[in-house]
Amino acid sequence: MTQQNRARDVIVTGGGVIGLSIAWELARHGIQVRVLEQGSFGQEASWAGAGMLPPGNPDVAQTAEARLRAASHQLWPEWTQRLRDQTGIDNGFHRCGGVEVRLPGSLESLEEKIAVWRAEGVIAVPLNSSELFHRIPVLNPEITDGYLLPELGQVRNPRHLKALYQACVQAGVDLRAGSPVIDFTWSGERVTAVKTLAEEHRADEVIVAGGAWSRNLMQRAGHDQLFEPVRGQIVLLETQSSLFRHVIEVGARYLVPRLDGRVLVGSTEERVGFQKRTTATGIAGLIEFARQLVPALGDARVERCWAGLRPYAPGGLPRIGRVPGTANLILAAGHFRAGLQLSPMTAVLIRELILGQSSHEWAGELAPL
Ligand SMILES: Cc1cc2nc3c(=O)[nH]c(=O)nc-3n(C[C@H](O)[C@H](O)[C@H](O)COP(=O)(O)OP(=O)(O)OC[C@H]3O[C@@H](n4cnc5c(N)ncnc54)[C@H](O)[C@@H]3O)c2cc1C
Repeated sequence: MTQQNRARDVIVTGGGVIGLSIAWELARHGIQVRVLEQGSFGQEASWAGAGMLPPGNPDVAQTAEARLRAASHQLWPEWTQRLRDQTGIDNGFHRCGGVEVRLPGSLESLEEKIAVWRAEGVIAVPLNSSELFHRIPVLNPEITDGYLLPELGQVRNPRHLKALYQACVQAGVDLRAGSPVIDFTWSGERVTAVKTLAEEHRADEVIVAGGAWSRNLMQRAGHDQLFEPVRGQIVLLETQSSLFRHVIEVGARYLVPRLDGRVLVGSTEERVGFQKRTTATGIAGLIEFARQLVPALGDARVERCWAGLRPYAPGGLPRIGRVPGTANLILAAGHFRAGLQLSPMTAVLIRELILGQSSHEWAGELAPL
């Protein structure tokens, strides 16, 4: 840890999984970090997510998204271990495997999807009806076609957020809840301070990690990055015992089995602005979907329903890097459906940027426009 690093004051705006991961990564490398969160830490999209962690292979991945996913895939076990050692909190990360299936009557080609995974160097194993039955005995017997991604993982995101928060506290991060950032103070192209309602916070570097709310902050910097909230609803079912072990996916919808018998059913994709609420249509559709895949879930207890606002950026890719025309404003937002999965490597990229260590040229493709 150098004296130069110690002296650097970084302000992170937004305390979701992206902001907290960045704060922890920076603090571990000797940087002074303050996180300003408008509400409570880790209570927005990062809490609402299902915690699925799709696989990747860093030796083969070509696109920036695939490389970010693959690098994060490698970091998850290490981050989990380090968080557990430091905080005693188990985030529930494990590689449960995922099975994507084709619904009866669907014309979708699973072969094409298998080919895409394999081109990325990810193991994808076709499953016929008896292999499907062997892996998921409770699956609707009319479903006869699927494939397995054995390396797909999952994390209990609320626990992961608790662990990150605690690790930040222990690393000396100054965490301020109830502190909405409303503006920046500029000196030429440099942000010199971040304004909240109550005070001004001096900063050497400022990171915007405001999730779906990042557009407001970017407008303050003269950029109209079109971040948009995309609502996702989830139903949590409780069964007496664990019915299946793999995540089951059909396109963008899924069942995520927790080890304790609970099953998350997700998710809708709705462009309704900042309305974070569940709807009868959304929840009914998810329950019907769950019953269609696993009829036994018709007997499950509905424990809870919720909705979250995914941060969508144009092209569906996160924007990570320095904001053009500014000397010290950095953006890390727009992770859409994959912010939990992509959080570890996002944090590493930001640390490399701030410390001038960047060694990942591909990350340039994710730079803010
Ligand atoms: C239903 C659903 C299912 C999902 N499933 C998965 C999944 O299985 N796997 C996966 O990887 N991802 C999943 N996601 C996506 C994932 O949750 C998001 O990509 C991720 O949480 C984004 O993290 P974030 O920190 O950018 O945003 P958020 O968690 O929304 O955090 C942003 C924070 O910034 C704060 N903030 C905003 N503006 C300001 C301001 N001006 N001042 C101070 N604070 C501010 C907000 O209050 C908020 O706490 C899912 C999302 C949803 C909704």
